[in-house]
Amino acid sequence: MTTVQQILYKTSAQLLQSGIDNPMMEARIMLAYILNVATSYLVTNSNYVVEPRQIQALDQMMIRRCNREPLAYITGIKEFWGLNFAVDRNTLIPRPDSEILVEAALNFAKQLTEPIKILDLGTGSGCLLLALLYELPNASGIGVDQSLKALGVAQHNANRLQLSDRVQFIQDDWANSVNERVDIVITNPPYIKIADICNLAPEIKMYEPHQALFGGIDGLECYRKLLPRAFQLLTDHGCLFAEIGQGQEDAINAIATHNKFELVKQHKDLQGIIRCLVWKKLA
Ligand code: GLN
Repeated sequence: MTTVQQILYKTSAQLLQSGIDNPMMEARIMLAYILNVATSYLVTNSNYVVEPRQIQALDQMMIRRCNREPLAYITGIKEFWGLNFAVDRNTLIPRPDSEILVEAALNFAKQLTEPIKILDLGTGSGCLLLALLYELPNASGIGVDQSLKALGVAQHNANRLQLSDRVQFIQDDWANSVNERVDIVITNPPYIKIADICNLAPEIKMYEPHQALFGGIDGLECYRKLLPRAFQLLTDHGCLFAEIGQGQEDAINAIATHNKFELVKQHKDLQGIIRCLVWKKLA
């Protein structure tokens, strides 16, 4: 008979050996997923006996995780903005740092007259747009992505969150086929320099979609394409919220200024790195 405690001990030791950070936390998430309970349940039920078929299921998950597949792809779920998003290898895994964009856009939305229209460029799992629509009952939105498979995941998330009646997903390259004006453009485009691939964690490099990660030789290619289009689609009182990579603020703001945008604010992430730039159109 094997208890929760014994399994967590063994699993976390294996994860540690495979070089995975926070091994106990990940062991708890995996076992909780298999037992279909909250992780807190494991803490209070450490003597619970785990069935052999559940141990087998955990073994299967562990093979994948020890090959450095991200946990979110194994469970198929990632929490973002307190909501559960389905993810798979066609979508970037939502990052806690991107919640800053949602917070900034929500603060701005308070000043707008409803109904509010939002455009998400490179929507991936749909996390940014759907978090906003969840918080703003009088808003509707368009999510654009190059990847049809990613849009399938985004649509699934919209259905799960019961937001599908207020959102439309379009396969497109930076919204060339969108012809509506919007109050908010939000975007977390690919911004990693191709040469930086060697510095990425195996989980990212080996499993996350490269077209969602890399922004060309200097990392800025997508901003060059999306900023002029965002300018055309934003209303005069609208704002653009973009996630950026570490140290990219000056270079990206130069592209924005060139496209007649004026920087309104910059927001730092949880590590103090400037992560979100906000622009309005130059009057
Ligand atoms: N908007 C999605 C996110 O923030 C996807 C971004 C991307 O694919 N680069 O997670």
